[in-house]
Amino acid sequence: MALTGLDIFKLTPKTNCKDCGNPTCMAFAMKVAQGAIPIDKCPHISDEVKAKLDEATAPPMKTIKIGTGENEHSLGGETVLYRHDKTFVSKTLYSVAVSDAYSDEQNEKAFADIANIDYERIGERMRVEAVFVDYVSDGTKFLDLVKKANDMGRTLIINCADADLAAKALEIAAAGKPVLSGANASNFEAMNALAVKHGLVLGVTGKDLAELHDTVEKLEKAGNKNLILDVTMANIKDTFAATVQVRRAAIKDGDRSFGYPSIVNAARLAAGDRHMQTALASLFTLRYGSVVVLEGMSYADALPLFGLRQNIFTNPQKPMKVEPGIYPLNGADENSVCLITVDFALTYFVVSGEVERSGVPVNLLITDAGGYSVLTAWAAGKLSASSIAKFFQEADIENKIKSRTLVIPGKVAVLKGEIEDKLPGWKIIPSPPEAIQLVKFLREFNA
Ligand code: SF4
Repeated sequence: MALTGLDIFKLTPKTNCKDCGNPTCMAFAMKVAQGAIPIDKCPHISDEVKAKLDEATAPPMKTIKIGTGENEHSLGGETVLYRHDKTFVSKTLYSVAVSDAYSDEQNEKAFADIANIDYERIGERMRVEAVFVDYVSDGTKFLDLVKKANDMGRTLIINCADADLAAKALEIAAAGKPVLSGANASNFEAMNALAVKHGLVLGVTGKDLAELHDTVEKLEKAGNKNLILDVTMANIKDTFAATVQVRRAAIKDGDRSFGYPSIVNAARLAAGDRHMQTALASLFTLRYGSVVVLEGMSYADALPLFGLRQNIFTNPQKPMKVEPGIYPLNGADENSVCLITVDFALTYFVVSGEVERSGVPVNLLITDAGGYSVLTAWAAGKLSASSIAKFFQEADIENKIKSRTLVIPGKVAVLKGEIEDKLPGWKIIPSPPEAIQLVKFLREFNA
């Protein structure tokens, strides 16, 4: 169980020397207990006590890294059960499965799906992050799939319970730091040796939660805490129950043997039913799947799924903002018309997308509105004639831009007169109320 501030205080030197930047050892201990500062901020704590405190104050779920370079991903590190308590930390990764049990056609389709999904939404690249290469019975075909998947430049999850075959797969793919999955009650020693040899995360499975827990304890005893738990059970109901139980045990009960990220194999739970798999991916994005495995992914699957993930894995206490400033679009220069809007990320990406679609050169001006949308910012007093005038002054718009035409959001057309008073010499034009109308509006305006 996590230590309280008082528990930690008892282990400090209690000299109140302030070397850690805190006025007293008690203040230091309280902050360590909250996770606000690490223990090693106190230079006077002995290594022995530090090791004890490190263990006791570590987050309830380990953060595990998989992949390398631009394909490196963090999993786990979660500290809460509910997003309204605090933010979730590591987004769910989506993985598409290929398998020696699938037809060549199905595998090719899966590879094509992986390559096809690649777009940006609110500044985040959306793509299938991992390829799940599953071994069932045909070793030659499996190794061929490992090679093909490795060439795709994504993180691999090599699911192979045969340690000898897994060793051959790792000869091909170990450099990309894949997950080696498939350790179970009967093969964990050989699989552990392989994972340790290559410095890889080991995926552990069990026929039920008791067996999974038992195997994890044995691996931990052998010194391996670089694990990920495959919580896929015999059916959807049991898998959902297992996923929630594992997370609750880790976060609420402080069970460190369940304090690892998880894999949920929706491709196995609903084989052949892509709609159900997408529904399951939504479910396990909300409820604790660190990696969700699917048989494929189309744009129709991806758009709602990635949108959901982006909503869940953002900090609810921090508005999604972009930097205020001048964003020249479509080759805009100092003579191009200005269009102003707020710094709410979704507004920025929607408006900039429509402006780009219009092909009209526009200086998009983003003003600091606290990360609120247009109407919310206006209602909160963060988007007004005064705030726009202040932004013009701070960003030195008058000197940087020669055009004297400013398009304002149609939803705050009521500000037109006040803005004209604050910005003499500028022609203020309200845009249509909806961003989708901008293309026609700007083309006609530019004609
Ligand atoms: S540096 Fe250590 S001993 Fe000094 S006040 Fe901080 S916690 Fe106490």
